[in-house]
Amino acid sequence: MTQIHIIDTGYFYADGGAMFGVVPKKTWKKRYDAGDANDCLLVMRSLLVQTGDGRVILIDAGVGTKQLDKLRYYKFFKMLDLRQELLKRGVRAEAVTDVVLTHLHLDHCGSVTLKDETTGELSLAFPHARHWVGRAQWANFLSPHPLEKASYFMENMLPVKEAGLLQPVDTDCEIDSSGVCLRLYHGHTPGQIVPYIPIPGQTIVFPGDVIPLAANVTPGWISAYDTSPLISYHEKIRLLEEAVNKKQLLLFCHDAFTTRSYVKRAGRFYSLYGNF
Ligand SMILES: [Zn+2]
Repeated sequence: MTQIHIIDTGYFYADGGAMFGVVPKKTWKKRYDAGDANDCLLVMRSLLVQTGDGRVILIDAGVGTKQLDKLRYYKFFKMLDLRQELLKRGVRAEAVTDVVLTHLHLDHCGSVTLKDETTGELSLAFPHARHWVGRAQWANFLSPHPLEKASYFMENMLPVKEAGLLQPVDTDCEIDSSGVCLRLYHGHTPGQIVPYIPIPGQTIVFPGDVIPLAANVTPGWISAYDTSPLISYHEKIRLLEEAVNKKQLLLFCHDAFTTRSYVKRAGRFYSLYGNF
């Protein structure tokens, strides 16, 4: 039977205006707390999925520690060592069979490569795992728009490619016959992967930055980080309509206060229930 562990790998602060785009603060502040400096507390949430057929799948990997001195603006804190966290749950890093990266922005993939502090040498944190990345996301990573470039660090992913462990995703697919499906959504960035994980009686969805916070469940509440917000709007509705109809459980990757929720339609909008 599939087992799932939620791992909160660390926290940081992002500007509320960036998280909610054109939505005024007096509106979004009612649904997501912020400090006097407009700073919203965000988590970096990963999933460890152990399937009945023996696959050990890690979904997203947080920011890691390689670039923290360049990223002081975000005030990262309570950073966990992901490999140690897996070990606490009985999983060696070498035993991870698959790493699914929803996308390659720095807060989702930093921990997949390690840097020796003395020599600067890079190595793989999960040396035997295939690393699943949307092919369009990989192309975007190699040649990003100048406005998105600061979200990518080559050192996070080039060693994966050099080791022959990059697994590009061209279209919606399943990881072998594990039941875990990877679906592509666009808007936040091209070719983002949304994993769908079946467990008895229901399916867990990890929308990543398609819906990073529970408050982003309102279709028009789109992050200013999204590179194509008009596409994000429709992609979010596509995801939510299925979640409503199939009673899927959404797991939010950045919400420091709400981990998961079901969703129902409420007129033109959506609301949460069973959230905690
Ligand atoms: Zn993110």
